[in-house]
Amino acid sequence: MLELPEALTIARQMDTAITGRTITRVVVGHSPHKFAFFSDEVDQYPAMLEGKAITGADAFGGYVRLHAGNAALRLHDGVNVRLYAAGEKRPDKHQLLVELDDGAALQCSVQMYGGLWVHVDDSDDNFYYRVALEKPSPLSDAFDRAYFETILAEAKLALSAKALLATEQRIPGLGNGVLQDILLLAGVHPKRKVGQMDDATRDKLFAQVKATLADMTTQGGRNTEKDLYGNPGGYQTLLCAKTAKAPCPICGAAVVKQAYMGGSVYFCPTCQPL
Ligand SMILES: [Zn+2]
Repeated sequence: MLELPEALTIARQMDTAITGRTITRVVVGHSPHKFAFFSDEVDQYPAMLEGKAITGADAFGGYVRLHAGNAALRLHDGVNVRLYAAGEKRPDKHQLLVELDDGAALQCSVQMYGGLWVHVDDSDDNFYYRVALEKPSPLSDAFDRAYFETILAEAKLALSAKALLATEQRIPGLGNGVLQDILLLAGVHPKRKVGQMDDATRDKLFAQVKATLADMTTQGGRNTEKDLYGNPGGYQTLLCAKTAKAPCPICGAAVVKQAYMGGSVYFCPTCQPL
């Protein structure tokens, strides 16, 4: 799944590799997928994109956005986007293919579910997208301790740490994937309630939201996800499905896996007491 570190990594790679190229051909929905989501004007994707010059790519929240002329392609959630050089063998299955004037191609395929939206003239009024655009990135200076306190102040006291950080778009791009390491390093149990967080806990949580996301981004995303070239990210994820059977990387205790709020949480009962 695309979360902030991966979205930033892929956008940076796209920006470097294909800015200035012109889109020559677009194929939509080549391989049917029930949970690949498109704009209403999906039939118009070729008309909206072909012949346009790519002017850059950026990311915010968990979105990757590619700009071409007056159009923008926005990718989200479980979209795998890969850049293939001219002549390089490409997989047969894809939900969106964007061919470029140098023979290279961007190919998008959806895992589980994902969005591939194209809009022209900034007409994209998706609610979550607009929220993600407006809120400060956790990596920006605007996301400071005072701002984090406003998020805490607006949350119900009974809200859990997982719900606080990873739901309702309070912090766009912070999802269940990056959440696990943030909570481990902050020493906060996923079910710890906001009302039970003292100032020291709030300080640690804030510091780890910033530090862990920055670390993941600097290292090109998590090793559980792939970049624009299909390579895993350099950040070695501490708690995830792959490490579930391994002991806690901090204290050596057994890691616990639980289904909680639409996704598994992994935590160390010693480092993250409830
Ligand atoms: Zn531990």
